[in-house]
Amino acid sequence: MRLRISQIAVRLNYSEADVIKAVCRQLRCKPEQLDNLEILRRSIDARKKDQPPKYVLTAEVDHRGKPPHQQPGRIERAPAPVPPFSPAPPFSPSAAPPVVIGAGPAGLMAALTLAEAGHKPLLIERGAETPDREKQVASFWNSGSLDVESNVLYGEGGAGLFSDGKLTARSKDRERIRRFFETLVSCGAHPDILIDAMPHIGTDDLTNIIPAIRNRIWERGGACAFNSRFEGLIIENGAVRGVVASGKEIRTDAVFLATGHSARDVYRKLHADGVPLEAKPFAVGVRLEIPQQRIDEAQYGKWANHPNLGAASFRLTRREENNARRCYSFCMCPGGEVISCASSEGMLTSNGMSLSARAEPFGNAAFLVPVEISDYPSTDILGGIAFQEELERKAFIAGGSNYGLPAARLIDFLEGKCSDLPAGRSCQRAIPAVLQELLPEFVSHTLHSAIPGMLGELNGTPLEEALLYAAETRSSSPVRILRGPGGESEIKGLYPCGEGAGYAGGIVSSALDGMKLAELFALA
Ligand SMILES: Cc1cc2nc3c(=O)[nH]c(=O)nc-3n(C[C@H](O)[C@H](O)[C@H](O)COP(=O)(O)OP(=O)(O)OC[C@H]3O[C@@H](n4cnc5c(N)ncnc54)[C@H](O)[C@@H]3O)c2cc1C
Repeated sequence: MRLRISQIAVRLNYSEADVIKAVCRQLRCKPEQLDNLEILRRSIDARKKDQPPKYVLTAEVDHRGKPPHQQPGRIERAPAPVPPFSPAPPFSPSAAPPVVIGAGPAGLMAALTLAEAGHKPLLIERGAETPDREKQVASFWNSGSLDVESNVLYGEGGAGLFSDGKLTARSKDRERIRRFFETLVSCGAHPDILIDAMPHIGTDDLTNIIPAIRNRIWERGGACAFNSRFEGLIIENGAVRGVVASGKEIRTDAVFLATGHSARDVYRKLHADGVPLEAKPFAVGVRLEIPQQRIDEAQYGKWANHPNLGAASFRLTRREENNARRCYSFCMCPGGEVISCASSEGMLTSNGMSLSARAEPFGNAAFLVPVEISDYPSTDILGGIAFQEELERKAFIAGGSNYGLPAARLIDFLEGKCSDLPAGRSCQRAIPAVLQELLPEFVSHTLHSAIPGMLGELNGTPLEEALLYAAETRSSSPVRILRGPGGESEIKGLYPCGEGAGYAGGIVSSALDGMKLAELFALA
């Protein structure tokens, strides 16, 4: 009988023999009764500060002999494997292949799924292929020269290319997550992502993996057009009949729109063309940076720096009073850097990234405050974009009008002033600024009252060591492109997907959304 065993505790540098021994203890059996051990999941338990952290595993194993007594959540019969997604080849391949717009996680995975299902998608991306994009981004970070079509937010790999590559997912869609991770591994990601509870890839590995996914789309009969900007839909009688990209008409009956939430020109064009949209709440704030050693010590105590542990992360949330707004940490980048991002002239936002080793001396995370639709300057559906743009314009000017990031020591922010910045910081192109002047009052008030207490939860990290960068404005989409249960907009043949459609957030959920819509199309 194949069994699934959970809560298997082993030391950090465990061997397979350790796991077998622990499983035998749990099942009260002998090693000879076990076969085909497979570790499914691995998380670190560092709660007991007086004992070394350990791994807690979930594994499946074939067990011979009298079936052991099952205990829910500890010893259970393994569920039957889910059959892989394998649609029959298209019955009558359409003369006009489906078009996917945007080569971020959603668009790439939608295009790959379509290609694997026998359709021959055309993937259109406004930015450049990875190697060219890397040069453009390096030049932006070094000298502030912005290419508005290909940058940290636009280009092959989408917004997540220069990122920590955290693969956290709240989704319960384990089967699609598994397929996405297996695709990443077969394209070069470390197989540990298949089992780690908090997997991450890192920018240096992503820049190899993403082109490998694109090559796979090619190999399966798809095509990719880089440096090609979607300019609008061709709509006839309430149905998509094609798209216009960089001045060229391309006829198709199916468009997967995966343009992310930075493409404000796309929202404006869709709105003008009558595609149903709605405003949605999001969040803004700052990016906070502290020495990584503080985070490691807070999470691992005296075991910090253990070679098997790596850089620790945190997730914090705080509400000062019952009816006050919440402040929460988001998109933590352990051992990473704070980066400046822009996709339009004169506007700027902060974010974070890490390399696969997560070995830089600082860790950073966004500290965000929710923004409600009623906070927008207008009741217009695109009011959230106007809200973001106002913040980003102020940040650009405060950052020296050259894409440097406005920054302040936390202690200065708390006193409403600005002084010099510490030389030890990850983002060198940072300019001292009074951050209160850049943020809406309710945001700076919430950050002001919540951050000291939040750092207190992090083992009392000294406030003097924290640096803030502003403004973090693009944590999620302020607009939703409405779609029905089949994934289609009211405009027939239009499949809005990924973060920009407002149904996903983060690399994994955006990729899953792209896959799901492509599957719905392929199976229809
Ligand atoms: C710096 C940074 C770090 C991040 N770190 C993480 C992380 O560690 N983990 C995580 O889960 N999430 C992270 N995120 C968020 C994550 O990147 C996004 O949630 C995810 O990329 C959204 O995927 P998407 O495919 O929906 O959109 P996007 O990734 O935004 O991709 C959209 C693509 O569409 C293209 N496009 C836009 N307009 C047009 C047009 N008119 N014509 C043609 N192409 C167009 C863009 O160039 C872009 O390539 C990070 C984001 C940033 C900016």
